[in-house]
Amino acid sequence: MNYARFLTATSAARRPSAIRILSESDLPRVLARAGVAPAPPVPGAREAAELMNRSPPSLISLATGSPNPNTFPFKSAVITVENGKPIHFQEGSMHRALQYSQSAGIPELLSWIKALQIKLHNPPTVNYPANEGQMDICITNGSQDGLCKMFEMMVNPGDNILYNEPIYSGTLQALQPLGCNFINVASDKQGIIPESLKEVLSKWKPEDARNPNKNTPKFLYTVPNGNNPTGDSFTVNRKKEIYELAQKYDFLIIEDDPYYFLQFNKPWVPTFLSMDTDGRVIRADSLSKVLSSGLRVGFLTGPKPLIERIILHTQVSTVHSSTFSQILVSELLHQWGQEGFLAHIDRVTDFYRTQKDALLAAADKWLSGLAEWNDPTAGMFVWFKIKGISDARQLIEEKAYKKEVLMVPGNVFYNDRSVPCPYFRASFSLASPEQLDLACQRVAQLIKESV
Ligand code: PMP
Repeated sequence: MNYARFLTATSAARRPSAIRILSESDLPRVLARAGVAPAPPVPGAREAAELMNRSPPSLISLATGSPNPNTFPFKSAVITVENGKPIHFQEGSMHRALQYSQSAGIPELLSWIKALQIKLHNPPTVNYPANEGQMDICITNGSQDGLCKMFEMMVNPGDNILYNEPIYSGTLQALQPLGCNFINVASDKQGIIPESLKEVLSKWKPEDARNPNKNTPKFLYTVPNGNNPTGDSFTVNRKKEIYELAQKYDFLIIEDDPYYFLQFNKPWVPTFLSMDTDGRVIRADSLSKVLSSGLRVGFLTGPKPLIERIILHTQVSTVHSSTFSQILVSELLHQWGQEGFLAHIDRVTDFYRTQKDALLAAADKWLSGLAEWNDPTAGMFVWFKIKGISDARQLIEEKAYKKEVLMVPGNVFYNDRSVPCPYFRASFSLASPEQLDLACQRVAQLIKESV
């Protein structure tokens, strides 16, 4: 794969931050120069961390700009854990948790996640040579941070981007200011329709991808499980067909999959990452829906040459995801092991399934004849279509509030928000079953009064 052709000039121009090299990897370089250890490759955060652990205790580093943690006011913490032992932050681990850390993520969390990705997706690229798309991982401040950095890495004004509407509004907000050209590919309950994608791509020839003037699509962005807002998921056959088209027309696939762990049916559908023989998939995972959204821990998995670009961006933007958050998450995951983590996922999914069923039951009771809706396969949303109106916006934005019920109007999930849209998105995450019932009753009244 020629990854260089996907990069913006900004991303291609990124160089390792001198300060970050000092705090992450200068020590091994100093050691290397002194003949103590071999120099790690740039950016080398993980290699550096490993070497740092082996550095002689007599070494005095005047290199890094890290503050002295003895001056920090936080001294210790104990975090109690459901289905696990308390996590103690004593003085030593507190010092580390409050300190700068590697931009790629702390090594022990990275290695745990790498093992998880191998177990769940078994990406064909795991053992590829580094420059030929070898699987790599970096921790991000939630998956949103990773998505934003990916878009910045690849999108120039005028670039063609493939996606399927309705789409996660956070992605639209991140992509629109970059001035790309959105190409919507038709989708249904099983995800993007391969025939539609073929049709869209038919204006190019496969060899056009080698000619920058042809402006072939750089990537396809999609939410393959529990799409936000529709709740729909791709089938494995659709994914295979779409991956083949990505190979043929040489575009990348951004697999934004925060609801992967919230799939209501097993076995989980194989991911794009699991079929990525070329190293053309970048996958965004999130722990927001299953461990905590406020800790801001997500991760990107993709070909090393691209993940390295993201890490360089991180070095000069967020620097790293909170060390405290990462240690907390890592301690928990190590304590639980993969089995414990997956058992937790099952419990969380059971909760959301029950909630979903409660909303669907309430919708059946109050909204039959007034609206249509789907039974989501994953995630936390139901996508309602109000019958008999072309645009639900005023009803949802103005009148619903007066009836004391809130939903998101469907138009925010479209690139062109001005197009009339009879849909709204309802979340079954926070309301109790009783509240879900009352909410549907209120929505029913609203529709009856408005249509
Ligand atoms: N992608 C999608 C499709 C989402 O729905 C969300 C959360 N609303 C995100 C990404 C971002 O999640 P986070 O940054 O919390 O991981």
